[in-house]
Amino acid sequence: MEKINIYDLMLDDLRKILISLKEMPYRRDQLLSWLYKKNVVDFKGMKNIPKELTEKLEKRLFIGSLKIAEHVKSVDGTEKFLLKLSDGNFIETVLIPSGTRNTLCLSTQVGCKFSCPFCASGKKGFLRNLTPGEIIAEVMAVKKISKDAITNYVFMGMGEPLDNWENVLKAILIMNDPKAMAIGARRITVSTCGIIPEIYDFTKLDLQVNLSISLHAADNSLRDKLVPLNKRYPLEKLIKACENYINRTRRLITLEYVLIKGKNDSIKNIEDLVEIARRLRAKVNVIPYSDVSVLGFSAPSREDTKEFLKNLTNRGINATLRESKGVDISAACGQLAGKIKK
Ligand code: SAH
Repeated sequence: MEKINIYDLMLDDLRKILISLKEMPYRRDQLLSWLYKKNVVDFKGMKNIPKELTEKLEKRLFIGSLKIAEHVKSVDGTEKFLLKLSDGNFIETVLIPSGTRNTLCLSTQVGCKFSCPFCASGKKGFLRNLTPGEIIAEVMAVKKISKDAITNYVFMGMGEPLDNWENVLKAILIMNDPKAMAIGARRITVSTCGIIPEIYDFTKLDLQVNLSISLHAADNSLRDKLVPLNKRYPLEKLIKACENYINRTRRLITLEYVLIKGKNDSIKNIEDLVEIARRLRAKVNVIPYSDVSVLGFSAPSREDTKEFLKNLTNRGINATLRESKGVDISAACGQLAGKIKK
């Protein structure tokens, strides 16, 4: 029998395994505490687990922790971790301190299918989904070496979370469970380039998890170019899915808007964006483009970025600027590429 990664297991599955091993149910909670609260990555280090049980567990299960292959720190405090997966591929995870927040940006796939032309993550194409346990292991690996507590978790690393929704959801449920990581759902954000059926699924779950939409363009012809998925799921359908989300959950969404010089920064672009933001009562998060040299796009100047933001706020939109962090270590938005095994 192939061994199972214990990080892949939903809490109920772990309970069932313990029952099948003729163990008492309270052992599960002990295991969860060692795994997720004390971050122990070896069954032998779990002090109140008897030796016989440790041996039984080791026959069926393994703890799929991930090794940090590289760890770099930016001058602005952002830290990037290159994690080695068991198949030899690598993913990147970024820890971003900002004021009282310490946000962990998680990857969900090796590569990405959606080929937004300005983003590095999709450049090498798509390789595979991460398992729930690999996503959990990203969190645990960073927690292990981070001095400060992580306050927020965003699925904004490599990949498209709603394209791997089953696994991402499992990871979120484990992260959120009080017996496991006990991370409040409101501290977790899922970001999508707009996969509509999954936005409806996400809505139905009625989680308290935040939803962000990578809009980047507010008219179809421009969005078709910047976010090619728009050809399949055009703006009017995306807006409907967002309206349904807002009405059903009574929660607001954030629209992310990567500001690219000469591409989506005109007054007409602003007016289109304002119309959608008003309709959705959404906050707009403006992200100045972070340079990915080979892709041929460029960042707006600081003044132009401020002007763009002012044009939004003057029209009554709640708009914020997301400072590019970790640029010097290629850890900023859209710069994560990981590594695919040669
Ligand atoms: N696939 C999901 C999750 C990735 S989030 C999504 O699209 O939402 C990463 C965010 O950074 C997305 O909004 C993405 O469009 C944006 N991004 C990509 N390349 C960028 C770049 N070079 N500069 C700034 N933001 C970028």
